[in-house]
Amino acid sequence: MDALLNTGQRVLARNYAPAKLGLVRGEGCRVYDANGRSYIDLGTGISVTSFGHRHPEIQKAVRAQLDQLWHVSNLYYTEPAVQLAVELTECSFAERVFFCNSGSEATEAAIKLARKAASRHKPPERRAIITFEGGFHGRTLAAVTATAQPKYHDGFEPLPGGFRYCPFNDADALDAAFDGGVAAVLVEPVQGEGGIVPAKPGFLQHVRTLCDRHGALMIADEVQCGLLRTGKLWAHQWEDGVVPDVMTLAKALGGGLPLGAMLVGEAVADILAPGSHGSTFGGNPVVCAGARIALHLAQRPVLVGNVLHQGTRLRETLEMLQNDSGVFSEVRGRGLMLGAQMAPGYVDKLGELVDHCRELGLIVLTAGGNTLRFLPPLTIDDDTMDEVVERLEEAASRL
Ligand code: PMP
Repeated sequence: MDALLNTGQRVLARNYAPAKLGLVRGEGCRVYDANGRSYIDLGTGISVTSFGHRHPEIQKAVRAQLDQLWHVSNLYYTEPAVQLAVELTECSFAERVFFCNSGSEATEAAIKLARKAASRHKPPERRAIITFEGGFHGRTLAAVTATAQPKYHDGFEPLPGGFRYCPFNDADALDAAFDGGVAAVLVEPVQGEGGIVPAKPGFLQHVRTLCDRHGALMIADEVQCGLLRTGKLWAHQWEDGVVPDVMTLAKALGGGLPLGAMLVGEAVADILAPGSHGSTFGGNPVVCAGARIALHLAQRPVLVGNVLHQGTRLRETLEMLQNDSGVFSEVRGRGLMLGAQMAPGYVDKLGELVDHCRELGLIVLTAGGNTLRFLPPLTIDDDTMDEVVERLEEAASRL
């Protein structure tokens, strides 16, 4: 494994700071390193392998498609992309689907669609996009500008114009930021990278109301929180009656392979005319064949029940650690998208806690600089969760 780490350090771009861990195999809830050691994967590659590693049904569908057709571009129709689009429209508000390869690309598509829609009756200076502090929408230039966190902007200026930033969950601030010069509001129903922060009850409804009043589009970024991660298929469904105009998806949609999508509702279904946008790989048949199974799994009642059940167990464990050990000051999130914020005296021990977890065979994530983040497989079972609980208790006690 040392050779792999050393070579990786030498040849890979230095934009990441990976753990000293080389992984060679994954199965279900576990990944295995080059020495054969196993880890329970509570990060799922940042909410990508949500149905476990190499889910047998996804693997079977991908293999079958590998024997048929790999790529033709969007100049032609293919069965997997068309069927996946049908299935996405059947289980959401959407009328049409644009496929791409990542969350950032889905964000870009949504920004471009909002601008194009506004261009029908507003000049360029009246096509602002409102986004929220602590939000995350990707790393391409427009997506990172939509990401209202200065640390991601530093040195990449000049950034594209036409974005307004607002504190999250602050209805008054949103009122003040809004006017007829807004083309869209882009919001994560549960902020992921920002530290697992759910929208407060009523906030998404407020966004919807203001968008309707000012003729702006509501865009839900469900790249991290969508596909059953929170216990509902779409995280915006936690707020009754809120229907966005546009939803962006990626991560878990491909079941472990790269796929992004922008879903558009009736009002904006025909905004993108032929030639206005595109992506060579978008809707790749191999990836879409697997994604059809992923989407199907996300709607299985038994899995929905499991997310709520295991989410409660993990939350109770974290709350118990908060009360007994004092390591955490707050536990936030929904379903199996949970964050435990480090208590004031422990914030600088977040990295140490992650290391203890890894030594004990648990892969965990961080978010927002002060929060331990959990995005476990939605398929995690009771026995595995028992192990998780035991190891988390031990890791916290080592602090
Ligand atoms: N939106 C959200 C909510 C995300 O969490 C992420 C990735 N963490 C993105 C967009 C960007 O996705 P990608 O890295 O696939 O471009």
